[in-house]
Formats: sequence, structure tokens, C-alpha cells
Amino acid sequence: MTMTSATNEGSGAQAATDHLLEVRGLKKHFPIRRGVLQRHVGDVKAVDGLDFTVGRGETLSLVGESGCGKTTAGRSTLRLIEPTAGEAIYRPDAATEVDLFKLGKAEMRSFRRDLQIIFQDPYASLNPRITVGNAVGEALQVHGLASGSELQDQVAELLKKVGLRPDVANRFPHEFSGGQRQRVGIARALALRPKLIVCDEAVSALDVSIQAQVINLLKDLQGEFDLSYIFIAHDLSVVRYISDRVAVMYLGRIVEIGTVDQVFDNPQHPYTRALLSAIPRADRSERRERIPLTGDVPSPISPPSGCFFHTRCPVAEAGRCDTAYPETRQVGEGGHLAACHLTEPYS
Ligand code: SF4
Repeated sequence: MTMTSATNEGSGAQAATDHLLEVRGLKKHFPIRRGVLQRHVGDVKAVDGLDFTVGRGETLSLVGESGCGKTTAGRSTLRLIEPTAGEAIYRPDAATEVDLFKLGKAEMRSFRRDLQIIFQDPYASLNPRITVGNAVGEALQVHGLASGSELQDQVAELLKKVGLRPDVANRFPHEFSGGQRQRVGIARALALRPKLIVCDEAVSALDVSIQAQVINLLKDLQGEFDLSYIFIAHDLSVVRYISDRVAVMYLGRIVEIGTVDQVFDNPQHPYTRALLSAIPRADRSERRERIPLTGDVPSPISPPSGCFFHTRCPVAEAGRCDTAYPETRQVGEGGHLAACHLTEPYS
């Protein structure tokens, strides 16, 4: 068991001990090996030192362009891929506090049921030869929580919870539409009554009308089961609708984090502003001047010197932005933080 202290990010509206999860210094580096001897010649620094918290019943979204590390961050947090460094303090109840990254395999298994994931492509995560009823009930069986008619009843109940008829339990994944398959994926994630679900681009592959239904379902289930979500997405309109707080990532680091209103209505980091300026808005009065993001995201193998964003930043200052990485500082009330040399410190 490991104790951590509250930092700026965690010292906002919630006290640190109210957080279900507190991630500090999360890194995931993938080694690059070359030659016959497979010598280690470098690292892909997919995630390079993230600090964030997730409150009980809260949705924290991770956003950013493709390749920013948000999916790796979500999966490393759940240890679906092993993190390189950091800690993830998990507090399922008032009496329990563990660092997930320090748990052995057997210990981790006992917490695994609390921590689930919903994937972007439910078809890929469902075995085509297993009925959806068996797919949803599998985890209950593996954990010895139900069998026989009790298992069938629980599967039927889960299917109803996600808006599917219980009699579809005998069907196979290919007999369902994309939206229905994602509902099956949600039922599977819910089976063990988790506390935290990582939704990894969970609605990105769905048609817009189906997206809305699945998002509303996720919100309803959150209220009913007091679920916390780490919501990984690139569609900022969806993020605005579902999130309580938002963390904007660039090249493996968080460049801005705050409540959804702080980040969307008062963005402080130039990268956040550029991302938000690209959201299509029907209402003319709400339209922002488009800030074009030129050039590609740099390689996470050798990030630029100084601020990682300086090669694309429209307001970068030579001699400053290209020499030192900006410290993360408070730029608004509570936990509104940004990492940019030009932001005004909050007082
Ligand atoms: Fe742009 Fe400089 Fe701020 Fe980085 S530190 S976002 S380059 S102004």
C-alpha cells in the first residue's frame, strides 16, 4: 500500500482521498531494438509522465490527435499493457488504498473485476463463435460468481440494462448491428459490477445517431451504478457532452486539464485552442476563428527540444519555447492547469 500527496491537479474541488484513482508520473516507453543482437537503440515514448485523477462517478476524457498517447495511457492505467513507470493509487472504498502498478499478478486479479474496458471495435473483441449470452456471462463464470440458471438470469438482466432483449443471448455477434454489438460490449464490461471503465474510442466507429444512443446509455449506467469513466475520444463534441473534466494530450504528455467548462470555454493552451477551433458549430455566434495546425505531430522517438508543441505552435517564441519544456501551472480555479510559457499564472 502506498500513500501519495495531493498535487495541484488533485487539489481542486475534490480532496485527494475522494479520488477513486490517482495516477502519477505514468510512463509507457516501447523499446526499439535493432540488429541481430536486438540492441536497444531508443524508445517510443508513447506516454511520458502523466498526472491525473478520476473521481467517483466522474468522467475524465483524454483527448488529442491520433498518436498523442491517449489509448496507451488508458490501457497502461489498467495494466492491459505494463507501464514503464509511475503509480496508480486506487481507492475502491474508504479502507482500501493500493498502487495498482505494484500489485503481483494474483493481487491484480482480485482488483481486475473493478476495472474494465470497452473497445472501439466490439466485433474484434467478441469471439464470432461464441453467443453474446456466453460472451456476457463469461466473466461471471470465470470469477465463480454465477452458474446455471442464475447465470442465465444475470445475463438476461445485463442485456436488458443495455437496451437489448434477453432472447438475443443465443445469437452470434455477426447477427447484430454495430450499435447493438457495442451494447453487448458494454454489458460484458458491466457484468462484474466495475467501478472504473476505460471507454477507448467506444463510440468512434458508430453512426452519429447511434453514437448519441450509446453515449446516453453510458450516462444512464453511470448514474445507476456510480461508475467512473476514462473516456478516450477524438470527437470533441462528444467529449463536451459526456465529460466532467478533460485532459488534452500532446505527444505523450498532458498540456491542459480542467473541468469541461474551463477547457472548452476558457482554453489556455495554444494546442487546446487550435483543437477547439476545428469543431464545426451550427450557431454562427459560437464559431471561433479557425487556428490551423500545420505540419505533422513529431515523432515520439525524438520529441522536439523545449516545448514539444513549438514546431507547430502559432505563437511560439524563439529562444524560449524551443529551449525549455514549460512547467505545468495553475491557470484557473481548482485544478485548471496548463503547460505553456505564455499562460498567465492564476492568482
Ligand atoms: Fe506554444 Fe511556447 Fe506555449 Fe509551447 S510554450 S504552447 S510553443 S507558446
